[in-house]
Amino acid sequence: MGRDDFHQDWEQVSDDILSGVYEWRLQHPKATLTEIEAAIDERLARLRTKMLQDAALATPAAAWRDAPPDERPRCPQCQTPLQPRGSQPRTLQTHGGRDLVLERTYGVCPACAAGLFPPG
Ligand SMILES: [Zn+2]
Repeated sequence: MGRDDFHQDWEQVSDDILSGVYEWRLQHPKATLTEIEAAIDERLARLRTKMLQDAALATPAAAWRDAPPDERPRCPQCQTPLQPRGSQPRTLQTHGGRDLVLERTYGVCPACAAGLFPPG
């Protein structure tokens, strides 16, 4: 995914948020400052999750399965380069309390058979 794809995607979500807040405000003319703040935060959390997910997926650490052995993550036990064992979705919790699902390559150590998701 290139920079322009990000930009287009994020712009779309931002637009939805802006018009969403505007609509919400029209429907809640007597909302308190706290209520307005909550309505905005809830929508921003959506953009935050999307940006985090897209940006995290774009990190080189996520694509180590195509890297040559000496550039792969190493086994934390014995420092042998890991062998990729397919991608699996990994669900993480963000600060905003939303689930973030990332496709991550699972690695297995050929020497000691330890299996893990390398950090990153
Ligand atoms: Zn090992």
